[in-house]
Amino acid sequence: MDSTGKRALGATAPQFRTRLLAWYDANARDLPWRKDHDTYRVWVSEIMLQQTRVAAVIEHYHEFLRRFPSVEKLANARQASVLAAWSGLGYYRRARMLHAAAKVVVRKLRRRLPQTAVGWRELPGIGRYTAAAIASIACGEAVGVVDGNVERVLQRLGGEPIRGEALWGASEKLLDRARPGDFNQAMMELGATVCTPRAPTCLTCPLIELCATRGELNGAEKGVRQKKREIHYALHRRDGAVFLVQRPKDVSLMAGMWELPEITPPGKNRGPAFTVRHSITVTDYTVHVWSTAPPNDHGQWISVTGLNRVALTGLARKILKKVESTKEAT
Ligand code: SF4
Repeated sequence: MDSTGKRALGATAPQFRTRLLAWYDANARDLPWRKDHDTYRVWVSEIMLQQTRVAAVIEHYHEFLRRFPSVEKLANARQASVLAAWSGLGYYRRARMLHAAAKVVVRKLRRRLPQTAVGWRELPGIGRYTAAAIASIACGEAVGVVDGNVERVLQRLGGEPIRGEALWGASEKLLDRARPGDFNQAMMELGATVCTPRAPTCLTCPLIELCATRGELNGAEKGVRQKKREIHYALHRRDGAVFLVQRPKDVSLMAGMWELPEITPPGKNRGPAFTVRHSITVTDYTVHVWSTAPPNDHGQWISVTGLNRVALTGLARKILKKVESTKEAT
């Protein structure tokens, strides 16, 4: 993990929380189960959302709650009625488990829904993620969650494939303890709407300045065979500024972000200023950086002191950081 990744998952956690929650407050989707934090409703929504798209859940959520407005009504219903209300959502085991759990709540817990993730995990059909999600969103317990969205966001932020317990640890470490439910929902919302699997829209991401990869996936994340490629970039500096070009807005990877101009190697009589290695999706690049002017001027001079405010690709940032730290460039 490079220093930016460590910063994102560690030292700059307060900044991370502030940015993420401000983004969530302004951009959260208006979903019916977010209107109040009624524990029973949050529980039903979390079970429905397992393996099912939000749009499909919305279609069934209101009708299910109309038929079973409380845990008592659900516990006392016939299983056939519960399955009928679940019709269209698929994965009927979830409905059977929800029904079984409602019976446990009514008959063994005296109608009192659990208030902690540990308590929720005692119920049928409730795994680690679901327990943490319900406990944080509905009960305000400070417990982090990890689902597919959170995993992807954390891996991209940190720039390396973290897995298993390390993911849960990172989620816990970043968690905003004053607003755990909102924080967890914000992480999942970011993964679902911005840091999406195929084409993350990094330019709209509130965490871009803390992100180690900015949309460039670590190839190891996908577990596929890596291709190898050599590329050459021109590093052209003048009066405290560096010459950069903007990637086209219609490309699938890192659209609209800024990078050094790619060039053909300037010749055999001299060597590059330095070389770095970098992985993007399924390709491992050997990147040669030449201290030279690019062949054309289709770009922009950008002040080195203002680079923090520019949406650089992860590779451009890596190169410019190396220049800054080693002063290898002319
Ligand atoms: S900057 Fe891009 S890759 Fe990084 S967290 Fe945001 S959307 Fe994901």
